[in-house]
Amino acid sequence: MSNAHRFDPTVLREYDIRGIVGDTLNPADAEAVGRAFGTMVVRDGGDTVCVGYDGRLSSPSLEEAMVKGLASTGLAVERIGLGPTPMLYFAVKHRKAAAGVMITGSHNPPDYNGIKMAWYAGPVYGEQIQEIGRIAEKADFESGQGSDSKVDVGDAYIDILAKAYEATKGLKVVWDAGNGAAGDMLKRMVARLPGEHTLLFADIDGTFPNHHPDPTVAANMVDLQKAVIENNADLGIGFDGDGDRIGAVDETGTMLFGDQLIAIYSRDVLADRPGATIIADVKASQTLFDEIGRLGGNPLMWKTGHSLIKAKMAEIGSPMAGEMSGHIFFADKYYGYDDALYCGVRLVSLVAKFGEKLSAMRKALPDVFNTPEVRFQVDEARKFKVPEEIKDRLSATDAEVTDIDGVRVKTDDGWWLLRASNTQDVLVTRAESTSEQGLERLKAQIVEQLGASGLPAPDFTLGGHH
Ligand SMILES: [Zn+2]
Repeated sequence: MSNAHRFDPTVLREYDIRGIVGDTLNPADAEAVGRAFGTMVVRDGGDTVCVGYDGRLSSPSLEEAMVKGLASTGLAVERIGLGPTPMLYFAVKHRKAAAGVMITGSHNPPDYNGIKMAWYAGPVYGEQIQEIGRIAEKADFESGQGSDSKVDVGDAYIDILAKAYEATKGLKVVWDAGNGAAGDMLKRMVARLPGEHTLLFADIDGTFPNHHPDPTVAANMVDLQKAVIENNADLGIGFDGDGDRIGAVDETGTMLFGDQLIAIYSRDVLADRPGATIIADVKASQTLFDEIGRLGGNPLMWKTGHSLIKAKMAEIGSPMAGEMSGHIFFADKYYGYDDALYCGVRLVSLVAKFGEKLSAMRKALPDVFNTPEVRFQVDEARKFKVPEEIKDRLSATDAEVTDIDGVRVKTDDGWWLLRASNTQDVLVTRAESTSEQGLERLKAQIVEQLGASGLPAPDFTLGGHH
């Protein structure tokens, strides 16, 4: 009954467990995660855990192994079935479960899959994920008489999403689920909303036959942009593969970035909660932090990483937070987790409520010149040291340096960022200015500082994404 289990060293990551199915991640790994995480939950006094899975071809077999592992520790396992990750988070709240486990490869290629976990609806990450590895390796498992049952939370979930629509007037909206796990719930949700709704790729298909389900990548938004124009729609909304990240296009077909969306949502949230703290990650534009202040809110810059943002938000009781990557979290009238379907309803609702074009809200934010997020490989050993060296060198100058996550440097020209990826041996840089000349000066500073730390100049023409 003991069965010590060793994971492939690449699968226990900072924010989740992820691997290539049939290679680094197999049902035996999922079962071991179930036994180890279940052990942690049981030892903490928990008795119920919800489990969901996305539309990938490998997800049902991983789910079955996961349920077996969790039940072997004595937990009552409630299987909510196929759906988006936020439906799993919802299930944990709705069923008052101690924890939740989602089998999902999010936006990754079809041969990948992974596991995201929530504990009292807070994220499980960092040290806790390492703890799962240690428990499995020592076979230090609890065992008990568990159970498993199927539980349908779909009606309750759709109900809370539909009720989030605050306007009386409906709009013309195009939704692109990218054949991801949100498709079925999206169909049920729009049937409950006023207005005219066109759905693209809402049939769940784990081979992702149309485009990759990642709405932060421009190439994946082309179909949505076309459909918005063709349908003369008010806006378009896209989801990632497991429905926890949102992307949007306005009625002119222009894509909005994560920080622009957060700025627009802030107006809605701060109207009801003046002075509230809104959190955004270090990659976000200065214009967002300025806009939150202008709207009477308290802007807070925090580390990139959806688990870290979610944890900070809970710690300080912030009503809303978001990331460039499109993870946006509402504790305002909602539960505080990243739910792209909920975010979609809030966006349509606020555009209808304010009676303005989404493009006008986008254009009301100051124009900036920026680089894409540029990623380049670096020795793992140097990854965290280089930003520190830069911070030390710049602390002697009059630049304003923030070290929340890497270094973010503010000068008269704008700002630039250099941070280490938490998941790869990669450094990420980005710069933004109010003028083209300013941006060139900032890029020159980055090159100079990297040079002083013995690194070559990055190629700023190369974009990249998570
Ligand atoms: Zn996702």
